[in-house]
Amino acid sequence: MILQAYKYRLYPTKKQAIRLQAVLDRTRELYNAALQERKDAYRMAQVSIGYTQQAAQLPEIKEIRPEYADIHSQILQDTLRRVDKAFKAFFRRVKNGEKPGYPRFQAYDRYDSFTFPQSGFSLTQDNRVCLSKIGTLKVKFPQKKKANPPQGTMKTCTIKREGEHWYVVFTCEREQEIVSHPSEEAVGMDLGLLHFGTLSDGSTIENPRHLRVSEQKLKKLQEALSHKKRGSKRRRKAAQVVGKNHRHIRNQRKDFQHKEARKLVNGYQTIVFEKLQPANMSKRPKPKQDEATGAYLPNGASAKAGLNKSILDAGWGQFQQICRNKAEWAGSRVLLVNPKYTSQMCSGCGAIKKKDLSERWHSCSCGCSLDRDHNAALNIKRAGLNLLVNESQARTEPSGDALLRSPRL
Ligand SMILES: [Zn+2]
Repeated sequence: MILQAYKYRLYPTKKQAIRLQAVLDRTRELYNAALQERKDAYRMAQVSIGYTQQAAQLPEIKEIRPEYADIHSQILQDTLRRVDKAFKAFFRRVKNGEKPGYPRFQAYDRYDSFTFPQSGFSLTQDNRVCLSKIGTLKVKFPQKKKANPPQGTMKTCTIKREGEHWYVVFTCEREQEIVSHPSEEAVGMDLGLLHFGTLSDGSTIENPRHLRVSEQKLKKLQEALSHKKRGSKRRRKAAQVVGKNHRHIRNQRKDFQHKEARKLVNGYQTIVFEKLQPANMSKRPKPKQDEATGAYLPNGASAKAGLNKSILDAGWGQFQQICRNKAEWAGSRVLLVNPKYTSQMCSGCGAIKKKDLSERWHSCSCGCSLDRDHNAALNIKRAGLNLLVNESQARTEPSGDALLRSPRL
């Protein structure tokens, strides 16, 4: 079972917004009162009060303060549970010798949500959120088909205020998606500059043309920007255009990566990448500093390795993350292996054969002759399979940082 949160913007009427704020104010008041009670009990009698004792007082509170009777009882229980959690976390930190940080009283801008932990909420046929003792509120689902409406069994419903806006967050429980893999096979992928990636079966994934066109355009805009006078209105305008193009490219790239990641995850049980090494990847000249003034001097970095490269670098990390997320849902896995020697080693015989970056072909005395990136992808795949073997041999021992599973959602 997987838990996933879905967050949507709410559009309450003016009256409803006042009502939401009223519930939020009351729950915040309850939170602070419960915190005060625990504090006092401990200070005056060295007694610690738990959730059960505090929840038992709710009926009485409702009698004295009718405005609390107007709030769904589960919301109030959840508020007291939040206090309980804050204290439990506090005691845990004390026990572990961490900086304890006593639970805090909540101010208006910090306490921004209340929760229906089990029931009291529903979605209507015409996509409105029905909240017990509050009303039926308009909700806006995004246009994307996937997120609309929430999938699986709705477990909890949280109403959240962010600035002037209100949101609803559903947490839903659903079965893990079962994808039948056409093969149980593993694939290694070398991420590169010439091709977006090369797979261990020898095929390549190319950067889409529209993306290359956009990048060329961005490069030109960047150059134009660098010739504009600092502080000028023209420069500011040009910088805005560059920023807009940046965002456009980012979105284009993300779409492309989602598509390619989907293909990989559907096609393979195990996908192996090199672990990215930020320091190595961006081999940029170190910044030069003027010894007398401390000012930074131009070092040619932006012209050589600068912007375009840095976009690509960021793209690889993002691609691996997208693959990991999709793999999690599909029940397959992504492995990251040590990048050492993946391009130098011969995938045929294991000999180390030094090549510089310009050497595009790998040919070895063992008779192995293939594209440099294909050779690397094969090595990456094998390193991943070795990890799996080691893991099954040492099932009882922690596998260390070599194997990075995708994080739980
Ligand atoms: Zn060889």
